[in-house]
Amino acid sequence: MVKNIGLVWLKDDFRVKKNLALSEATRKHKEVVAFYLFKKKKFEKQESQRWWVAKSLEEFKIKLAKYNINVEVLEIDSYKSFFELLLNKNNFSIYWNKTYEPNYLKFDNILSKKFSDHGINFKIFKGNILNEIDEITKNDGAPFKVFTPFWRHAERFYSEKIPINYISISKCSKKVSFFKNTISAVKIYPKKRWFKKFEDFWNPSEENALKHLKNFLKENIENYSDRRNYPSIIGTSRLSPFIKHGQIHVETIWEECNKLKKSGVNKFLAEIGWREFNHTLINNFPHMIKGNYSKKFDKFPWVTNDKFLSAWKKGLTGYPIVDAGMRELYSTGWMHNRVRMIVGSFLVKHLLINWIEGEKYFKNSLLDYNEANNVSGWQWVAGCGADAAPYFRIFNPILQGEKFDKDGNYVKKWVSELKNVPKKFIHKPWELKNDNILKIGSEYPYPIVLHEKARKKALAAFKKI
Ligand SMILES: Cc1cc2nc3c(=O)[nH]c(=O)nc-3n(C[C@H](O)[C@H](O)[C@H](O)COP(=O)(O)OP(=O)(O)OC[C@H]3O[C@@H](n4cnc5c(N)ncnc54)[C@H](O)[C@@H]3O)c2cc1C
Repeated sequence: MVKNIGLVWLKDDFRVKKNLALSEATRKHKEVVAFYLFKKKKFEKQESQRWWVAKSLEEFKIKLAKYNINVEVLEIDSYKSFFELLLNKNNFSIYWNKTYEPNYLKFDNILSKKFSDHGINFKIFKGNILNEIDEITKNDGAPFKVFTPFWRHAERFYSEKIPINYISISKCSKKVSFFKNTISAVKIYPKKRWFKKFEDFWNPSEENALKHLKNFLKENIENYSDRRNYPSIIGTSRLSPFIKHGQIHVETIWEECNKLKKSGVNKFLAEIGWREFNHTLINNFPHMIKGNYSKKFDKFPWVTNDKFLSAWKKGLTGYPIVDAGMRELYSTGWMHNRVRMIVGSFLVKHLLINWIEGEKYFKNSLLDYNEANNVSGWQWVAGCGADAAPYFRIFNPILQGEKFDKDGNYVKKWVSELKNVPKKFIHKPWELKNDNILKIGSEYPYPIVLHEKARKKALAAFKKI
């Protein structure tokens, strides 16, 4: 046991199970303080996440108190200046788990050098991923750019490697404080109160993450490959915000899945595989965080149209499946994957608006926002990513609706104006022509663009590059 205090820098790690930084600190130190750095500027464009983070901190504080560990929250202007201040202290050792975003990893290198130069004891651990991002390469050391061979290799690599011996965290001798000027987690909640509705859908905690997983594996894994396409049913795990904020480690998901011999497991783990793939992509090709992975898209003739962009964000495009998705996102901070693809395709291909606008809006609205998945998801949809959908494959929002929301239950749930529209017209209400049921144009908008016309325009724009 070391005499000084063990500090644990919490990022996306609100869990006790499989938390290497936390268990190392409690193994080595009698007194441990976990801290969270709230950088207001970062969260200005990630409003929904403020809710999840504040909730998680409140919950985690109570949980860690049982281990005599204090959770302290600090508001900072920059990570760099905060750590500069720490260099003047010498009564601590510090531990944290990696976050697999290029800026965080770069900063880990800077901190490693500074702490070493100042003789400060520190250790950085593997974060929430199956394989480290540099472990999976082609034979010649180059990164994979296509998902299927990546995952074949990554899955085998992970199952053959010696598992990490995760040690449970231990109880500290007494609860101590370390930082001055800490703030309450309550200060992190967004100012606008739209998030109150999130409470009906989510309860962020490690226990609930495991419950979600177990329920999903019991009830839904068998037909996951098919059911994952239908937004009106619970056909997917809805674990993404828990994974993003580290309430569950993907290694736990892997273990629980491998206890089962059920169909659906491979497909489900392949989705975890996409998450792994996306993390390797943004780190090997960091230019894709701010722009197109495929440079030829730099010449794409995107359109600036604030009216269309605003209609899309508000769920007022006149295409029910698109509008339902955008309203689900606003109300719950989450959107079904099939619908993410449909609304994304609509923005980029029907409205010809740069995917970056969609990425920004999702970043601000999603509880599961994650740099790797969001940037890659948008570039997959736009056709400019690695292993992306070809640009010329344009989702028809009417047919997508008719195929994946046949009875219109999803649309009716989120677009209440359409609740009396018969099934036959639910995905094309402008054809109904019955003012007693729906006054199209006043109660619900006409389509802001016509599908066929927009499709031809998108293909012509694509030909230009
Ligand atoms: C335009 C667009 C933006 C997206 N932005 C994000 C984002 O910011 N954060 C995010 O976590 N996912 C994002 N996704 C991927 C996907 O939509 C969500 O991960 C999924 O809908 C989460 O629901 P679930 O947990 O029920 O998924 P499940 O189907 O139960 O899958 C389990 C887990 O696998 C991972 N996963 C599933 N699908 C994908 C996928 N296509 N790509 C990468 N990982 C996947 C997630 O971690 C998910 O929680 C985006 C997809 C698109 C098309």
